[in-house]
Amino acid sequence: MKNKKIIRDGHIHSPYCPHGSKDSFSMYIDKAIEMGLEEITFTEHMPFPVVFMDEELLKGCSPSEEEIKKYFNELLELKKAYSEKIKINIGLEVDYIEGYENETRDFLDKYGSKLDDSILSVHFLKIGDEYYAMDYSTEIFGQLVEKLGGVKEVYDKYFETVIKSIRAELGTYKPRRIGHPTLVRLFNKKYPIDYDNIQLLEVMAKEIKERGYEIDFNTAGMRKEYCLEPYPFGAFSELVDKYNIKKVYGSDSHLSSDVGRFFENY
Ligand SMILES: [Zn+2]
Ligand SMILES: [Zn+2]
Repeated sequence: MKNKKIIRDGHIHSPYCPHGSKDSFSMYIDKAIEMGLEEITFTEHMPFPVVFMDEELLKGCSPSEEEIKKYFNELLELKKAYSEKIKINIGLEVDYIEGYENETRDFLDKYGSKLDDSILSVHFLKIGDEYYAMDYSTEIFGQLVEKLGGVKEVYDKYFETVIKSIRAELGTYKPRRIGHPTLVRLFNKKYPIDYDNIQLLEVMAKEIKERGYEIDFNTAGMRKEYCLEPYPFGAFSELVDKYNIKKVYGSDSHLSSDVGRFFENY
């Protein structure tokens, strides 16, 4: 059964994203209006509160604190300018970095009052004292498989980290929406698996439900050549329905032409 038309895209990046396109804010907004959306959230990557791994790699992941201040100011103006046509929310995609919860909370305390909406995402996995950017490349994913002893182990580690993010004390401004909860399936066509740790997925679903959190139903995976499915997909998607967890659709656009893309499938 199809839901009623989706009128909100809750996950959009911006010209401030160092690994995105230089498409302007107005290109994203005009595309959203053209797609018939009534509400959007810009969720730029939050600056990292600490340098916890290779600084060059991190610089490619998120803008600096100085840049994000400009991002907030620019969006405040746009929000007003477009208020008759579309509701624009100011947001961030906040990284959960295991071991740096206090630093993340401090940053959120500093800027949280500027946020209308936000997402909490896991992209980094901590193994021993080292962090790995799980979604960075198939090579890094391969290193994780080797390090942890199998694809199943990487999936377990990802979901365990998401569960930690849900339980983390990140203060008043902690995001209530869990970003792309099955992002670990990004390279599933290259690293196939019939993942059967349903118990762990069930813990994740229950933790989200108990706190009244929601999920980022993220269509970006459908555009990725080794994924071709949304996050969530499969068993976890069924649990989301079983527990009646609220979904907020998000395109995770880093390009204005991707806004609202694939929403017609739902
Ligand atoms: Zn990004
Ligand atoms: Zn993300």
